[in-house]
Amino acid sequence: DLGGVSVGTETTEWKRAEGIVKELERQCSTPISRLREVVDAMAEELRVGLASEAKSNLLKMVISYVDTLPTGDEKGLFYALDLGGTNFRVLRVQLGGKEGRVIDKEFTEVTIPANLMVGTEKELFDYIASELAKFVTSEGKNFYLEPGRQRELGFTFSFPVHQTAIASGTLIKWSKGFSVSEMVGKDVVVALKEAMERQGLDMHVSALVNDTVGTLAGGRYRDEDVMIAVILGTGTNACYVEHADAIPKCQGLLPKSGYMVINTEWGNFWSSHLPVTEFDKALDAESINPGDHIFEKLISGMYLGEIVRRLLLKLAEDAALFGDNIPSRLREPYVLTTPNISAMHQDTSPDLKVVENTLKNVFGISHIPLRTRKLVVELCGIVAVRAARLAGAGIVGILKKLGRDVIGDTGKMRTVVAIDGGLYEHYSFFRQNMQSAVKELLGSEVSETVVLELSSDGSGIGATLLAASNSRYSKKS
Ligand code: BGC
Ligand code: MG
Repeated sequence: DLGGVSVGTETTEWKRAEGIVKELERQCSTPISRLREVVDAMAEELRVGLASEAKSNLLKMVISYVDTLPTGDEKGLFYALDLGGTNFRVLRVQLGGKEGRVIDKEFTEVTIPANLMVGTEKELFDYIASELAKFVTSEGKNFYLEPGRQRELGFTFSFPVHQTAIASGTLIKWSKGFSVSEMVGKDVVVALKEAMERQGLDMHVSALVNDTVGTLAGGRYRDEDVMIAVILGTGTNACYVEHADAIPKCQGLLPKSGYMVINTEWGNFWSSHLPVTEFDKALDAESINPGDHIFEKLISGMYLGEIVRRLLLKLAEDAALFGDNIPSRLREPYVLTTPNISAMHQDTSPDLKVVENTLKNVFGISHIPLRTRKLVVELCGIVAVRAARLAGAGIVGILKKLGRDVIGDTGKMRTVVAIDGGLYEHYSFFRQNMQSAVKELLGSEVSETVVLELSSDGSGIGATLLAASNSRYSKKS
């Protein structure tokens, strides 16, 4: 009878689905041998990127012009503006100097309207400047600006920028779904200043910083062993403290401190050792920045959900995972988010209720059998574990560049990695997998010297600290 036929087909289809997942698992696997190759390739690309400004370099290795990190003496009222991911925030901090530290702090955060991410410069920057203006006019009594002083701002702009000075830099390209027309090659501080003028807002931009650099500065304020900062959020990136004499392209600049913070822009890392699948290639090809930021597209929060959506669609098409009709929302790019993945992956309810509800809310699919829900959890795991382990390999690549992946002649040196971003902060399976990859790669003795530390909103505070240390009122003449 027909029932029998349908059961038979169903079994074949289920077998096919399992086969697809198995194959995917194989392609995405990150055994330690492969991770070591990624570590070596990363360390090598870091070195190559420091040598010259060649256009062909994978890693931009941006000279940040930050050659002094916070000491704790920073004092006064400073602002920060943070643009770069899903949210945009404005922050005000009263720094108390040696004794006071952060006396008071206040911030607002808003989601960037999606249309502004792909609109014009004027629309985006007018929006930012008007939010900033609103914030400044609502100043509380706790904040004190010395008379006769102009308000000063650290601008955290989390895209690849060719920095030309501490407070200026031109946009190299957009990432993370932003594509604001005619801005590549422009000075982003000028864009901000012009928008502030249009708002009648009188503020001075004292520092332009990448979010990684802000996080490093914020981390250093609390702990002097912070050498590396990593962002694992919508996008991903890392910066670190490099010896000035290891930076051939730093010619001319001879920082007194002997070091320079380098923004690696590791999102653009690529190596033939990366476990890239046809799904990743399709995602890249259909993205706003095809060919760019491949490492980021394997790792960061903007993409993990989208990778899983593509896998589910494939399973629906080739193995009728959700029955004969393919739910139309399954074809909509980016509807499945990384918070969805995190929730499903970490679903502890016995019958996987979270998975069921998520698939229902996001795709409108219901009556999903338990074994299918289990398969979905497995998919989330495959994608997230690959991401986490690659991020871990990236960090070890930087440690290797610094010679801190081994115990050197000087004995054990403590190295702190300050990490910010929702992916790391809110997705504990991701965090745990990343930590264990780092440990596996370093071995237990060295890994005792390396501290991975969550530094949430280090980048905001960090930008105010860098505005303070680069204040126009404290510049030595
Ligand atoms: C940008 C980086 C940024 C990172 C994390 C990447 O897409 O290129 O500049 O630091 O995202 O926000
Ligand atoms: Mg951010």
